[in-house]
Amino acid sequence: MKHVIIGNGPAGVIAAESLRRADPAADVVLLGDESGPPYSRMAIPYLLTGKIDEAGTHLRKDAGHYKQLGIRLMKGRAKKVDTKARRVTLANGKKLPYDRLLIASGAHAVQPDVPGIESPNVHRCWTLADARAIAKKAKPAARVVQLGAGFIGSIILQALAERGVKLTVVEMGDRMVPRMMTAKAGNLIRLWVEKKGVQVHVNARVESIAKAAKGAMEVKLSNGRTLGCDLLICAAGVRPNVDFLEGSGVKIGGGILVDERMQTSVPEIYAAGDVTEAAGFYSGKPVLNAIQPNAADQARIAAANMLGAHAAAQGSLAINVLDTLGLISSSFGQWQGVEGGDGVELVDEPGFRYLSLQFKDDTLIGATSIGWTEHVGALRGLIQGRVRLGGWKARLLQDPTQFMAAYLGSAQKAA
Ligand SMILES: Cc1cc2nc3c(=O)[nH]c(=O)nc-3n(C[C@H](O)[C@H](O)[C@H](O)COP(=O)(O)OP(=O)(O)OC[C@H]3O[C@@H](n4cnc5c(N)ncnc54)[C@H](O)[C@@H]3O)c2cc1C
Repeated sequence: MKHVIIGNGPAGVIAAESLRRADPAADVVLLGDESGPPYSRMAIPYLLTGKIDEAGTHLRKDAGHYKQLGIRLMKGRAKKVDTKARRVTLANGKKLPYDRLLIASGAHAVQPDVPGIESPNVHRCWTLADARAIAKKAKPAARVVQLGAGFIGSIILQALAERGVKLTVVEMGDRMVPRMMTAKAGNLIRLWVEKKGVQVHVNARVESIAKAAKGAMEVKLSNGRTLGCDLLICAAGVRPNVDFLEGSGVKIGGGILVDERMQTSVPEIYAAGDVTEAAGFYSGKPVLNAIQPNAADQARIAAANMLGAHAAAQGSLAINVLDTLGLISSSFGQWQGVEGGDGVELVDEPGFRYLSLQFKDDTLIGATSIGWTEHVGALRGLIQGRVRLGGWKARLLQDPTQFMAAYLGSAQKAA
């Protein structure tokens, strides 16, 4: 059986290893278009702050790992997939036949349509190549503007601030991390980073980037402000890498549509990771969920099914944990609540602590927290386990801080 995997990020690597473990005889080809060994984008902030070197970003630290497992690493870019002939054509013209194909090509960072965005000192922060370019320019006291304060933007912000740059963040939403945090939580994070010396403009867009003297830039915002800067980092969201599937018959919505087995609309083709749009944990409707735990879970499920097993995903769940200049925040599941549900919010603005719990019937379906460094895993456990809270729900509505006791009480009872 010949398995070809397009994309050698976490999803591709985990799938390749799972295939090998279960089928020692299979031919496993892992194709990637970036130079160097497979690496983790999640490690980029640690590279930027000097906590690790480039080797520290590699997904597997032993250089002989893939060879020992008999996984064939191949450098190349998939250009086309011919589903009838069952082969992938690479940009260099080479053809790769397959019996089962896994698409794990991830996503790319979006470049917004802003005049001047092609300037040499504008960078995205998505690949190792981006990180190298940023490391050269984000020197102490450099004036840096960051476009976007979403999940990835807030992670990058932390790394940039640690490098000692003068940082200004521009976010078009009304708060920081607007697609991950409630209004109160997003505003609390903004207050915190402002206290730490980062300037934040919310409800503002970058309208143009113009050249200034000595390689510097002038950035015009929709709120009328003009910012001078030496470096602009673009963190405006991501989009699945699906261009090479044009004409293949693989159905695509926002990303590749997959069933609960990670199978695409073409039976012998599977997909996993940031490239997919899989059923949401609660809604069952296709959602994009570009986070690494999701990529890892989907990869294991896809690999099992590629080998003929019957593994099904529970549904894609939002799991977000952030450390923003020392302030720990998290959100899980349907953190924004659902119609007909109940919720409770606890706000301690001076103490920078916050907790929001969202319920449907007697189940916790979502949560947002700030300043809780212990036990937040219990929130995830209650949500992911769909634990019936019974009498604990009323107690949590009274005092949401009791979530750990509720977890121990109700999850253990269920077990
Ligand atoms: C700075 C940063 C910090 C992050 N921090 C976190 C975090 O704290 N928590 C979290 O959960 N997630 C985080 N993420 C997101 C996380 O890295 C992604 O969810 C994860 O990498 C997805 O894995 P993947 O294998 O699906 O895709 P990717 O890691 O993107 O890997 C896909 C690979 O496929 C290759 N490829 C694409 N197209 C082709 C083609 N046509 N032919 C051949 N190869 C191709 C790509 O070049 C890439 O190497 C972070 C991301 C960044 C950039």
